[in-house]
Amino acid sequence: MDLRRKLFLRKNPYDLRKTGDLFLKAVRNDVAFHAENCPEYAQILKSFDFSIDDIDSEEMLYKVPVIPTLYYKRNYLCSMPEKKLAVKATSSGTKGSQSRVGFDKKTLFYGILMMIRYLTFHKLISLLPTNYIVLGYEPSKHTQMGAIKTAYGITKFAPALHREYALKDTGTGYELNNEGIKKALIRYSKSRLPVRLVGFPSYMYFLIKTLKENQISLKLNSNSKVLLGGGWKQFSDEEIDRNLFFELIHYTLGIEKHNCFEFYSAVEHPLPYVKCKNGHFHVPIYSRAIIRDVKTLEPVPPGCVGLLSFVSPLVSSMPLTSVVTDDLAVVYDGESCGCGISTPYFELKGRAGVNQIKTCTSDASELARKGAK
Ligand SMILES: [Zn+2]
Repeated sequence: MDLRRKLFLRKNPYDLRKTGDLFLKAVRNDVAFHAENCPEYAQILKSFDFSIDDIDSEEMLYKVPVIPTLYYKRNYLCSMPEKKLAVKATSSGTKGSQSRVGFDKKTLFYGILMMIRYLTFHKLISLLPTNYIVLGYEPSKHTQMGAIKTAYGITKFAPALHREYALKDTGTGYELNNEGIKKALIRYSKSRLPVRLVGFPSYMYFLIKTLKENQISLKLNSNSKVLLGGGWKQFSDEEIDRNLFFELIHYTLGIEKHNCFEFYSAVEHPLPYVKCKNGHFHVPIYSRAIIRDVKTLEPVPPGCVGLLSFVSPLVSSMPLTSVVTDDLAVVYDGESCGCGISTPYFELKGRAGVNQIKTCTSDASELARKGAK
C-alpha cells in the first residue's frame, strides 16, 4: 500500500507518536521517486552529496537538500509528464516571478482526503447550506493563481448556496465589487443560514473597516465563520492588533472570535496549517517544520528566528519534498501552548529582509518576556 495513503488518511492529524516511522519512510520513498524521475532533482541531490541513507531518523530530515520557493519561480521541476497532471496552479506575483506547480491525480486525491480529515478535526466541515463571501478573485479561465483555487476549494467544505466575490471576473480582468459584497452581506444576514467569509486578512480588514464607517452592524447566524489565509504580510506597516481585528469582526458581523480561523499554506507547499485557539500554527503529522539559518540554511536551535522550511512527502508530481520559504519564523515545543494539541508550532516573524531579521539573542529576550507574563 502506498505509505502516503496510510499517513494522509489518519483520523487524528496531530498523532505524531504513532506516525513517526511512517512519515520517515514516506519521505525516503518520495525523495527516491523524484531522484529517479526528475533528472534536475537527481543533479541537485548529487551536488549536495546526498544519499537516502543520510535520513535514517527524524532528526536527520533536515539533510534532504532544501529548495527555496524562489527556485520554483525560475525553474520548473517535474517528476511526471505534463499530461499526467490533473491540476495546475501558479503562486501570486507578477508573471516571471510566479511558481508553476502541477499535481497528479493521486496527489490530489490524498490532498483532498487529508483536507477532509484535517478540517473535520477542526470542526470546519459542515452539511448546512452556506452563503459565502469570497474576499478575493472569482475563478476564471484566464488565471491559474493557486490562492484563487484554494479560496474556491474552501467554499466546498460547507455546501455553497451562493458565492459573492470581492473581485469579479469581467472576462478579461477583474473589477472591485464593494457594493455587491455589502448588499450580499445584508441579504445573507436576513437568512437563517450560516455565512462564511473566506480570503485574505487584509481584504477582511478593509471590509469591516468600511462596514464600521457606514455604521453597519449585522448579526449573522451563530454558525457563521471567518476563514483567513495568506498571512498578514499584505498589511506590512499597517498590521493591526489581532484582538482589535476580531473585536471589529464581532462588532460588524456578529461573528465570535472562536469562529475566526487563520490558515497558512504556500503554492510550493500545499499543506494546511490552522491556528489553534491560542493562536498557534501546530504542525500536523503530514509535514515537519524546520527553522534554518538565513545564510547557511543549517537548522537553528529551538527558539531562534530563521527561515521557515518544511519537509513533506505529499506531492509525487514535483520534487517539493523539502522546501524553504522566505517567511521568518520560530518553532516552539507544542506542549507549551496548552490548547490540547501537543505537536510543535511555529510563529511567523515577517518576511526575510535585512531589517526584519532579528538575532537569536533579541528573540530570546522576547521569549523571556513572554515567559515572565
Ligand atoms: Zn495550541
